[in-house]
Amino acid sequence: MAKKTKKTKKIHLLIVESPAKAKTIQKYLGNGYGVTASIGHLFDLPRSRLAINIDNNFEPEYITIRGKAKILKEILKEAKKAECILLASDNDREGEAISYHIKNAIQNKFPDIQVKRIVFNEITPVAIQKAVESPMDIDINKVNAQKARRILDRLVGYKLSPILWKKVKNGLSAGRVQSVALKLICERDKEVEAFIPQEYWTIDAHLKKGKKTFIAQLFQYKGEKPEIKNKEETQKLIDQFKGKEFVVTDLKQKEKVTKPLAPYTTSKLQQAAATRLGYTSRKTMRIAQSLYEGVNIGAERRGLITYVRTDSTRVADSAIEAVRGFISDHYPEDLPDKPNVYAIGKKAQDAHEAIRPTYIEQIPEEVKSSLTPEQFKIYSLIWERFVSSQMKPVKSKNITLEMKCGDGLFKASATKILEKGFYKVLKLLAPKGKSVSLPSLSEGDILQCFDLTGDQHFTQGPSYFNDASIIKALEEKGVGRPSTYAPIISVLIDRYYVVRKNKRLKATVLGKIISDMLTKTFPDIIDVNFTANVEKKLDEVETKGEPWVKMISEFFTPFNQKVEYVMEHLESIKGVLDEETDFTCEKCGRPMVKKLGRYGFFIACTGFPECMNSKAVPLADCPKPECNGKIIAKRKQNKRGKVFYGCTNYPECDFVTYFPPTKVKCPRCGFFLVERSDKKRGEYKVCVNPECDYIHQLEAEKSSV
Ligand SMILES: [Zn+2]
Ligand SMILES: [Zn+2]
Ligand SMILES: [Zn+2]
Repeated sequence: MAKKTKKTKKIHLLIVESPAKAKTIQKYLGNGYGVTASIGHLFDLPRSRLAINIDNNFEPEYITIRGKAKILKEILKEAKKAECILLASDNDREGEAISYHIKNAIQNKFPDIQVKRIVFNEITPVAIQKAVESPMDIDINKVNAQKARRILDRLVGYKLSPILWKKVKNGLSAGRVQSVALKLICERDKEVEAFIPQEYWTIDAHLKKGKKTFIAQLFQYKGEKPEIKNKEETQKLIDQFKGKEFVVTDLKQKEKVTKPLAPYTTSKLQQAAATRLGYTSRKTMRIAQSLYEGVNIGAERRGLITYVRTDSTRVADSAIEAVRGFISDHYPEDLPDKPNVYAIGKKAQDAHEAIRPTYIEQIPEEVKSSLTPEQFKIYSLIWERFVSSQMKPVKSKNITLEMKCGDGLFKASATKILEKGFYKVLKLLAPKGKSVSLPSLSEGDILQCFDLTGDQHFTQGPSYFNDASIIKALEEKGVGRPSTYAPIISVLIDRYYVVRKNKRLKATVLGKIISDMLTKTFPDIIDVNFTANVEKKLDEVETKGEPWVKMISEFFTPFNQKVEYVMEHLESIKGVLDEETDFTCEKCGRPMVKKLGRYGFFIACTGFPECMNSKAVPLADCPKPECNGKIIAKRKQNKRGKVFYGCTNYPECDFVTYFPPTKVKCPRCGFFLVERSDKKRGEYKVCVNPECDYIHQLEAEKSSV
């Protein structure tokens, strides 16, 4: 006989991991349901020791995370009152592990309470209702995959870091996947630095037909591609074409079909937000997560997008139906007969759907007032990309025009859009670049040239990695997973192995030293293929239930032997990097040396630890007349702490620059040169003196070395 429960008594308790998510779900469920948040993991390995029993099947020793005891107590208190617990953390490995640990904690205390797991891909009333009606058991394979990754990362971190302490510098640490990413960044830096940009010039003819003007570029001279190296050569050529007539010799038209792209996966969203909006991957994930967990739209609270950690482009049938309905209402002529289908990447686990809006009718402009500007932009990207993915392609016509003038052939091209297709829905994602149009011409037509101009360019070599391109590289190589791309970059920056400057990621001196050392001593561990293989094996623990202990022990035994060997045999470079300086310590009179610190180089007293005197490395002499100060790096005293370069005689001397000084003196005025960079030139040096226009070209310097 069932006991009657009072209506107000909460018999079901849902446990999620974030308060925002709890708030959204609470609104969807009636009385009889309580929702509480664990704020992420409650249990983890302790920070202070290895806590893995290597002799006993790598059994980890989990403890309550510091500061989480209160939350656990609260959850247990709520659980006691409940008849049934539903664990509703995110539907991935981490979420499964969070649920698993909470389940154990509850059942240890209250073995009679029923604890179940529910999963959903979006936070909407329908999805939550469905999930609540079909509770499941914890997926132990997923839990094991998370556990195996945690143990593996812990073993590598705890074994590699002491090597760095002993051989390089105290307090350093190294991680498994981050070290692979660091290596990729170091390799790219080397390629970029080895590249010597070459100057070249192009020649544009400004032409006129009737009232219409357009530009054509010289693409052949005496039957060959012109190689114009400098201004003088450019002028010589221009002089040859001056006053001569331009005759149309060829006119080509070609139709082109541009298909829409698949809806976003995590990595593609991060790449688009980095390229289009300049967001770091961490920022993108934070904003996307908030859209997934729920936003107040008027009186309602909605999860606006599906789950944000996914490597699949798959879309639920119901969502395809909804978006086709939307397109048919708003862009009826752009609805394909059948839904567009996208190939799912080979490496994708395909556990989730692509990232898409949960309510397709909720167009970005309509919810704009309920969102922060950043949420609006991320939502717009996701919405536009998803709707466009189910629309007709763009049809366009490419027109190429060739003209002869003396010994030169000039070319002009333009694109005319015939059918706009999915472009109609793109705003934030609209293709960049202005459209060019050409007058209607036919072969034999003679054109008037009213100007000839030359343009300086430099050949483009490989580029430094940025947030978008490193994620792309990691994904292509199978290193990292949707949940780890953003943390990999953050960790490298937090450890000061990599810096993000002008959106570019570059290894620091410290990062290079560590990467070189690990590459030499543990080539296999930080090998891209090896790491990709480990990720694959972790996937197999999750999807096929492969035994995780076997997987870890196969990895650990040779690794540990190598660690012991390296500890014993590798020569320490500790202190080797210290450079002598002319400085004498003003506190104790001992000489001072240049040392590599956590945040770059600094000058320290050799009397350390007796004498703690240290100072910033002087980068240049202060150029102000009568000032004998040195220019050093300083940090603004505000939250963002932007670096600038000022004089040691501040406040008497107020000299300041925001560009990194170099040791090179300006041959014209004697001030120092600073490092600058732009798209056209790449990296170069200019005089810091605002009255002087000296520019020191990088390639001149490189070729003289
Ligand atoms: Zn001293
Ligand atoms: Zn000064
Ligand atoms: Zn100068």
